[in-house]
Amino acid sequence: MADTDGFRNDWATKDFYQVLGVAKDASAAEIKTAYRKLARANHPDSNPGDDKLHEKFKAVAEAYDVVGDEAKRAKYDEFRSLQARGGFGPGMGGGGGGGFGGGGFNIDDLLRERGGAGGLGDMFGDIFGGGGGQRPRTQQARPRRGADVESTATIGFTDALDGVTVSLRLTSDTACATCQGTGGKPGTRPHICPECEGAGFIVAGTGGAFSINETCPACGGRQLVYDEACPTCHGSGRGTSARSIQARIPAGVKDGARIRLKGKGAPGEQGGPAGDLFVTVKVTPHRVFGRKGDNLTLDVPVSFDEAALGGEVKIPTLGGAPVTLKLPAGTPNGRTFRVRGKGATRRDGSKGDLLATIEVQVPATLDQTAREALEAYRAATAGKPLRAGLFDG
Ligand SMILES: [Zn+2]
Ligand SMILES: [Zn+2]
Repeated sequence: MADTDGFRNDWATKDFYQVLGVAKDASAAEIKTAYRKLARANHPDSNPGDDKLHEKFKAVAEAYDVVGDEAKRAKYDEFRSLQARGGFGPGMGGGGGGGFGGGGFNIDDLLRERGGAGGLGDMFGDIFGGGGGQRPRTQQARPRRGADVESTATIGFTDALDGVTVSLRLTSDTACATCQGTGGKPGTRPHICPECEGAGFIVAGTGGAFSINETCPACGGRQLVYDEACPTCHGSGRGTSARSIQARIPAGVKDGARIRLKGKGAPGEQGGPAGDLFVTVKVTPHRVFGRKGDNLTLDVPVSFDEAALGGEVKIPTLGGAPVTLKLPAGTPNGRTFRVRGKGATRRDGSKGDLLATIEVQVPATLDQTAREALEAYRAATAGKPLRAGLFDG
């Protein structure tokens, strides 16, 4: 890069675009036109003896020598841009665009470069020296475990007893795909956050011996800021991703249970392990059966005469053949009968019981025959002091 030697130390202070009176993003043709016009107007031949115009002519020629040359202009732009942002990072040497790819960028390197003893001269060396290859980055981003993800699954009563595989659609916060989470417009370069000077936090106040740190509001703790925000996430760096996974809900899960599925959360970054998925299970109630731990419950309506005289009552089981309850004579309302082995399947494969609770029903209406029968029953049982105990003492 010998041809640029003479200019290096000037670039920091010279705005060649301003000298030529063009915009920074002016096209090559615009620059050429501007140069020709200024060169003609300030040419020493047309203005003999005018030193001021002569100086101007030299400045115009110098400016055009750089920004009129595509390669030199690119280097000049890069240098000016880095200078303006106050950050001189590694890996910028001539390797073309994309020096900062997502997690590959390292704040430590940037801070070290900035605060190090190198000074401007060394930075020039970084930018223009070498063969244009990128220096190896000594510190890549560390592997990070993926985030845990929460989800809910609503399953049927029977599925909860037997276990079921459900398909879950998960949306999770991930790094924005456009900017890889940096929040900056792709192709633009970050500079150290001026608010927190790269710390990522600010001292919000002091309480006695303690100082209270808060995440820096300017950079959100990322330590770097971009002049142009990512058009996709508007600078937040966050995006969402949706995916479907199959999750096995084990047999015997209870309503409201929170199941942890290891490694089914958000994928890790830089080779880190995936996070976990937590599924909160909602179990839809059954029309007739209830659940009490490993046991199923069932309310069994019986008539007064069935309870009083005893009898056989057929009741359903879940997923099996009906069974017959033998009610002894004089079965009280609310008595619970245990039908062994007709409950929920336990983890070890054994089964809980079915708890059938008697609910004596009172007929809402009576036909003539039933009424006469009950009146006869009343006459037969008159004089039994049913409520005498309420008045004792
Ligand atoms: Zn900050
Ligand atoms: Zn983005």
